[in-house]
Amino acid sequence: MRLRNIPGARDEIVASPYTIKNPEEYKGRWTEYFGNDHPIHLEIGTGKGKFIIELAKRNPDINYIGIEKFSSVLIRALAKQEEEELENLIFIRFDADEIENIFDKDEIDRIYLNFSDPWPKDRHAKRRLTSDRFLGRYINFLKSTGRVEFKTDNRDLFDYSLETAKEAGWEVKDVTYDLHSSEWNEGNIMTEYEERFSAQGNPIFRMVECPPSR
Ligand code: SAM
Repeated sequence: MRLRNIPGARDEIVASPYTIKNPEEYKGRWTEYFGNDHPIHLEIGTGKGKFIIELAKRNPDINYIGIEKFSSVLIRALAKQEEEELENLIFIRFDADEIENIFDKDEIDRIYLNFSDPWPKDRHAKRRLTSDRFLGRYINFLKSTGRVEFKTDNRDLFDYSLETAKEAGWEVKDVTYDLHSSEWNEGNIMTEYEERFSAQGNPIFRMVECPPSR
């Protein structure tokens, strides 16, 4: 979801009280940052923030961090959060390629991946947020009792992700090829992409991945 470049977006992000400027400084100290020991859930590739903002509203006892690579998109999420002023939600403009630099062992309880970029060419497979390279990164900071929740409308990406997780020793569960007609739809929060694709008649695929026991 790369929007056109928005002049001043980076400056606005830096000025916002709802973004972390030097996230590396908080590695191992996120509990201290939030000022409580509530669980911490991440959304990687948060886009315009609809999903994570609604989650944070519904669950004040969970801390949320939205990670997004592009300022031009993140600025939309920040505009919403500046209206809501949710104390349990912050955003980081960051490329998840470097995610191990900002979270330490066992700091994170859950990761949401919603409609992640499919990177359809084989030679780009390592860039997929569900690739074995990313799963290996997540293990370094996800609790052993934690989970990754993944939604997409892209069947190839879904099949690849399912296979990759199993091969890497993750337990895959709660798999559905039609989330909106499934038992897991209750409480489901639609993302921007989910609304768009399901309005076009596309089924939504969803799975939960649990890390291998250490
Ligand atoms: N999750 C939102 C939704 O479902 O509506 C947005 C989906 S959009 C297809 C994917 C988003 O992930 C884009 O905003 C993109 O910039 C972001 N993204 C992709 N790769 C990323 C990375 N390595 N680090 C952080 N964000 C990333």
